[in-house]
Amino acid sequence: MRGRDDIPSPGHYEGHYDRSVPECLFCGIADGEVPATLVLDGKRVIAFRDVNPQAPTHVLVIPRDHYPTVAALAGAGDGLLDELVAHAHEVAAAEGIADSGYRLVFNTGRESGQTVGHVHAHVLGGRPMTWPPG
Ligand code: 5GP
Ligand code: ZN
Repeated sequence: MRGRDDIPSPGHYEGHYDRSVPECLFCGIADGEVPATLVLDGKRVIAFRDVNPQAPTHVLVIPRDHYPTVAALAGAGDGLLDELVAHAHEVAAAEGIADSGYRLVFNTGRESGQTVGHVHAHVLGGRPMTWPPG
């Protein structure tokens, strides 16, 4: 049964990460075991609609491999973070919000509101955003 990972501390990003973690919900989506509405199906990155959308467009962009946080992904140093951000922009363009603007959010660690311990970029748009965030 796949559930939620323990939420990682943003500081803990050294070392090796497993490609797929059995108890990780988003590894389950990447492996095709957990259903999701995919909007992008790449070799190293996928994107799917958030089950609880906070804006007209709310898509999550993730690496197929398991990294707990964006810092861990940056630490991998193999261009995967760049690729993920480029794909996030592609998603925004495909959703018609690249020109009007969108928000790209990596909640990182417990106090940020991160609830799934597999790094994911939220692509949010289709309405004016407020600042500061809650
Ligand atoms: P976080 O709070 O970690 O930044 O974002 C996790 C996001 O995952 C939330 O916006 C939540 O709605 C979404 N989410 C949680 N469970 C599922 C699921 O089973 N399927 C999909 N598509 N999204 C999910
Ligand atoms: Zn995972």
